Amino acid sequence: MNDDNSRELYDRALSVMPGGVNSAVRAAIEPYPFFVRKGDGGHVVDADGNRYVDWVMGLGPLLLGHDLPDPVQAGIQQRASEGPMYGAPTEIEVDLAEFVVRHVPSVEKIRFVNSGTEATTSAVRLARGYTGRNKIVVNQGGYHGAQESTLVEGDHENPAPSSAGVPQAFAEHTLPVPFNDEEAVREVFEEHGDDIAAVMTEPILGNYGIVHPEEGYHEFLREITDEHGSLLIFDEVITGFRVGGLGCAQSEFGVTPDLTTFGKIVGGGFPVGAIGGRAEIVEQFTPSGDVFQAGTFSGHPVTMAAGLETLKFAAENDVYDHVNELGDRLRRGLTEIVADQAPQYTVTGTDSMFKVIFTRDGPGANALEEQCEAGCRQDPTCPRYDYCPKNAGDVKNADTDRWRRIFWGQMKEQGVFLSQNQFECQFVSYAHTEEDVERTLEAYKEAL
Ligand code: PLP
Repeated sequence: MNDDNSRELYDRALSVMPGGVNSAVRAAIEPYPFFVRKGDGGHVVDADGNRYVDWVMGLGPLLLGHDLPDPVQAGIQQRASEGPMYGAPTEIEVDLAEFVVRHVPSVEKIRFVNSGTEATTSAVRLARGYTGRNKIVVNQGGYHGAQESTLVEGDHENPAPSSAGVPQAFAEHTLPVPFNDEEAVREVFEEHGDDIAAVMTEPILGNYGIVHPEEGYHEFLREITDEHGSLLIFDEVITGFRVGGLGCAQSEFGVTPDLTTFGKIVGGGFPVGAIGGRAEIVEQFTPSGDVFQAGTFSGHPVTMAAGLETLKFAAENDVYDHVNELGDRLRRGLTEIVADQAPQYTVTGTDSMFKVIFTRDGPGANALEEQCEAGCRQDPTCPRYDYCPKNAGDVKNADTDRWRRIFWGQMKEQGVFLSQNQFECQFVSYAHTEEDVERTLEAYKEAL
């Protein structure tokens, strides 16, 4: 594969940008990232003209793929042609807010910001301001963006910054517990109950393999937070408008959090974040309340148009049927391949998310002979359920070296673009086709 142009661009980038990129994970491609010239349906084309089936989809925002349907294109172009932004409210913000409030169970009011990180940062501040408490409980292996309060590792007894530059004083207010571990959550509440402002969790861990909640886990979180006067925050930056369709993952699990953070799809491919939830809590944001929150670009009209037209298109077309069906096919096909060629590995995912985790201390979810009837949704009735990863501890020993060799040495060479990090999930879009699925399965077969 010729990659002269990418290499040249990378050399230029290295001399003016740290690591040659603007977001750390992009530099993970070895020996250097390919630079994208353009997107096309379910594909990207790099600076040297190489074409890849794209399962990264911008890291999740592109529910409709790279070719935006006419109404979405028209909405974006019309907004952009009337001056990009004004520093004053516009009707389109109200339209998108009304749409989200209508569809997402927990959201009575919403504030739009510019990234998932900004959403989770503001949500933590809001929870602290509303409750008058400082501590937040998070999950080991969860990701809530590049913010001080959640760049924390270790456990609730020894939380420590996971990045240079994060003061220990921040880490001390963050209590990491394993996902799906009710006992650990109980312990934390026994010890710190009166100081806990919120439990913040991804409804499905999407940044550490794809790990599903066990039956009753979210209900348990709802009960224990209610009991202690703490808030429950679902970080739906990945799952929002993807898992469970327009109602998001919370509608699928039937658990209503106090606050929900959004990003990715709700901006239709443009920079976005949002914090939604119970009116009396969200009203604590300035100017109606005392929790300061502001942003020059927040509610950007072009973003609002892209988000609204994307979600309207999804509501009026077979978008979720299509992406979920291809997701099922990928998971089933991968399950067969893995069972045959690398039974210690684990196929996970749901709806339009999928991942092969290179678990090594098997048996992985695929070690048994039965075919997964649940399409790897980690359904407790599945005969292989006991082998599914339940938290980050089940995933963290994954064979990252082999994954890198397979990914960079094989999948990319075969024209398949997968997430650059072993633990991040991959996404199906409306633009993907059965042919893309078949080609990808063939590539996995060859690579493994
Ligand atoms: N929360 C979750 C669950 C995410 O997956 C991400 C990013 O992938 C974020 C927050 C941060 O979003 P952003 O990268 O838009 O700041």
